Amino acid sequence: MNDDTGHGFPAAHCAGGSTVSEAAAGAILTIDLGAIRENYRRLKARLAGVRCAGVLKADGYGLGAAPVAAALIKEGCDIFFVALLGEGIALRKSVGPGSDIFVLNGLPPGSESEAVAAALHPVVNSAAQLKAWRETARASGRTLQAAIQVDSGMSRLGMPPAEVEALSKEAFDGIDIRYVMSHLACADETRNPANEEQRLAFERLRRMLPAAPASLANSSGIFLGAPYHYDLARPGAALYGINPTPGEANPMLPVVRLQAKVAQTRSVGEGAGVGYGHTYHARGPLRLATISFGYADGWHRRAASAAWFEGMRLPFVGRVSMDSIVLDISALAAGRLGEGDLVELIGPSQSVDDAAGHAGTIGYEILTSLGARFHRRYIGA
Ligand SMILES: *Cc1c(COP(=O)(O)O)cnc(C)c1O
Repeated sequence: MNDDTGHGFPAAHCAGGSTVSEAAAGAILTIDLGAIRENYRRLKARLAGVRCAGVLKADGYGLGAAPVAAALIKEGCDIFFVALLGEGIALRKSVGPGSDIFVLNGLPPGSESEAVAAALHPVVNSAAQLKAWRETARASGRTLQAAIQVDSGMSRLGMPPAEVEALSKEAFDGIDIRYVMSHLACADETRNPANEEQRLAFERLRRMLPAAPASLANSSGIFLGAPYHYDLARPGAALYGINPTPGEANPMLPVVRLQAKVAQTRSVGEGAGVGYGHTYHARGPLRLATISFGYADGWHRRAASAAWFEGMRLPFVGRVSMDSIVLDISALAAGRLGEGDLVELIGPSQSVDDAAGHAGTIGYEILTSLGARFHRRYIGA
């Protein structure tokens, strides 16, 4: 294998930034592939024999679809979901021929031959997409595989009930329906009655289609219990360490560590203005550290937040800049933190979900926003 990152993955297959050396980088993103594998095993244990796919959309939730896929394959995972055809084509190049890859958003009209060439299966979301895939099968003279998605109540993707009811038997000529699937809108809210309403709607809709294995649960859906498991689960977030059971202890292992480097430290006197717009003024003498990390690296400019060093909270002061953030390090003994030292933004002191809470968003957005300038380190492979 072309091991030019030192981690078993060709650099070109890792997301941007992996070629920046640790010494040169402003921030370091460590991704624990061993933790992803353990999270997959934990989900499998809950699923008690039901198959478990891996959702790798948005470059594996920002963590690198290729290395994550390789880790999941080692756990026996051979079904992957991506959102877009382009993601599927890239993933096929990295995983080779052995795995099934489904494209959740369906195929844009005119792109069907590209899906055939890369051996990708569409998630068929409309009667028009079904017709296009049927015609592609006829033209290619063979049976083509697909998942059929029905809208059980999220109103986002999938065939609406009226469209499902109107389908003839011939509508599926030349198509091997691998799964009938749907997606839950409120799976992270255990008590929300929408979950059971969607499950019952899914039951009703799948009976109108040719018999096929079924798939409904995302990460949180797995924790709604066995009636939601069907024949295939489709977790993404939980694999990456995001809590699939908000409000309860996280049953998953953390996967991501994000550390930023101190670019400079300084002392300022009372009244000193800090950062653009002088939105912060020192209320007394302060020691400050500026880190090489900013909104261009995916940290929301509006997020009031903090970094951590050896268990100490170091609050952001002033505005988040494009490439830098100023921290108040007065709580640390003088000289304890200097140029080149690393502070933690995501890690043992501040989980992805904690960081998301401070930023008024969700862990999914924190991970998929992570920028391209980090030195990426894959461990646990
Ligand atoms: C994103 C997605 C998933 C995975 O959801 P998580 O909440 O990340 O587990 C599963 N199915 C569909 C249709 C999705 O869009």
